[in-house]
Amino acid sequence: MAQKTALIVYAHQSPGSFNAAVREVAVQELTAQGYTVTVSDLYAMDFRANATRDDIIGDLKNSELFQYGEETMHAWMEGRLSDDIVAEQRKVEEAELIIFQFPLYWFSVPAVMKGWMDRVLTQGFAFSLEKIYNNGVFKDKKAMLSFTTGATQSMFQPDGINGDINVTLWPLQNGTLHFCGFQVLAPQIFWSPAHSPAAVRAAMLEGWRQRLKGLLAEKPLTFAPCEFFDLSFQGGFQLRPEVREQQQSQPYGLTTGHHLGKPLPPDNQTRAPPTDEATPHSQNHPCV
Ligand SMILES: Cc1cc2nc3c(=O)[nH]c(=O)nc-3n(C[C@H](O)[C@H](O)[C@H](O)COP(=O)(O)OP(=O)(O)OC[C@H]3O[C@@H](n4cnc5c(N)ncnc54)[C@H](O)[C@@H]3O)c2cc1C
Repeated sequence: MAQKTALIVYAHQSPGSFNAAVREVAVQELTAQGYTVTVSDLYAMDFRANATRDDIIGDLKNSELFQYGEETMHAWMEGRLSDDIVAEQRKVEEAELIIFQFPLYWFSVPAVMKGWMDRVLTQGFAFSLEKIYNNGVFKDKKAMLSFTTGATQSMFQPDGINGDINVTLWPLQNGTLHFCGFQVLAPQIFWSPAHSPAAVRAAMLEGWRQRLKGLLAEKPLTFAPCEFFDLSFQGGFQLRPEVREQQQSQPYGLTTGHHLGKPLPPDNQTRAPPTDEATPHSQNHPCV
């Protein structure tokens, strides 16, 4: 039987950090479950964040007007992407689970991890015009964000100073991970470890260890399936009229992003719904 493989894409500068401790728990626990765990330690690798012409080996298709997305798509098809990108793409291909481990920087990932996303998830390899969201390239793989914050949980509430964490998570979880097809597991959030007592930090690590034991059996977060939309330029890739009509009687929006002017569905980006509430998943919808 093929070896189960997990990839941890990791961004922290210090081996003594809380992020390093969190990463170590994941390595230990997944290894104990029989996984081969690969860690891409981005700062240690000096992974380049800039998406530039250097990512393409050989001549450009259009040297007059450099278009990174176009050129990397052709380079991917022709095996002309730079070695560091190819190495990461190989790790992604092999992994059935990817954990992104990082400290929250400016409501997002650190630049080096954003660079990993920009450079590794190239068109063709990670998505195509036909293969996006629930029909995406990586629909048989799972991915999740695991991160630490400076802020407390109360600061990331809808009435807290930073606003709703579900809104913060939408671009990364929907716009990057689910866009490429990944089933996105609920994020693991370590609230403000630097301002927590030692016992609380120890409990956070233990909670993570316990979650990892059942992680692969978890249901993913729900997103709006492609089949809800008119996937044509003429139709503007907008919600189909029959879906819109069906949603009218619902008290909440479809997802954090597709709120339809209604209250956001509670915890849409932080918790998978119980089995009997699986809408808006496509298999439960009459229009697909
Ligand atoms: C550029 C930038 C932007 C930022 N933007 C945001 C933002 O938008 N929102 C936000 O909320 N925050 C933000 N922050 C804050 C940042 O997210 C936190 O500083 C970071 O998440 C803390 O995680 P850490 O791993 O660095 O913690 P550390 O400071 O490394 O660790 C915290 C504590 O845990 C201890 N520790 C280490 N190992 C263990 C262990 N094994 N067991 C128990 N304790 C241990 C450490 O000794 C320390 O006391 C930003 C920071 C920067 C630099």
